[in-house]
Amino acid sequence: AGHDPLTGVLNRRALQQRLQSLLADAGSKGEPLSLVFLDLDHFKRVNDRFGHAVGDQCLCELVGRARLAMAPDDVLARYGGEEFVLVLPGRDGRAALAWADRLRQDIAASPFPAGALAVPVNASLGICEWNPGDSIDALLEHADQALYRAKQSGRNRVVQWQAQGPELA
Ligand code: GH3
Ligand code: MG
Ligand code: MG
Repeated sequence: AGHDPLTGVLNRRALQQRLQSLLADAGSKGEPLSLVFLDLDHFKRVNDRFGHAVGDQCLCELVGRARLAMAPDDVLARYGGEEFVLVLPGRDGRAALAWADRLRQDIAASPFPAGALAVPVNASLGICEWNPGDSIDALLEHADQALYRAKQSGRNRVVQWQAQGPELA
């Protein structure tokens, strides 16, 4: 329980629990924290072209690459089908943006091995820096909005959430 059976990473419910303590820690220590939403690009095409089993192997390869990039205290969870969340304690938005873009490049740089196949995979990422007082839901929502913008603006990219300026009177 708490883990996704395919990839072994935290499931969505376990992520919610971990986020509660991670945000409490960041708040009490006065340290930054950022959250990343990652969604594989056109993943339906991977399944359609290579089959669902190969798609599953790609999800596991994605987790392997993410783990190589993660620091010991970073947290990885499978949020939905081909959508993952990374929590980066100690990283502000600027550091998270650089980290996420390195992961994006690493994913794009070499095709994913699946049996004898080499499957080209790209990912879009949305990131949000946590501000003390922001709820878990707000943090997830903002990172998801940034991910949506990454998809809209062409995929295979990272977008950082930014608060809208105050509305003009
Ligand atoms: P986009 O770039 O907009 O994200 O396109 P997409 O095709 O990735 O997005 P969409 O949400 O339309 O499709 C997600 C696909 O992910 C469809 C589904 O078959 C696949 N998927 C979800 N969960 C799994 C899984 O556990 N295994 C496999 N092999 N595929 C999965
Ligand atoms: Mg997708
Ligand atoms: Mg998706």
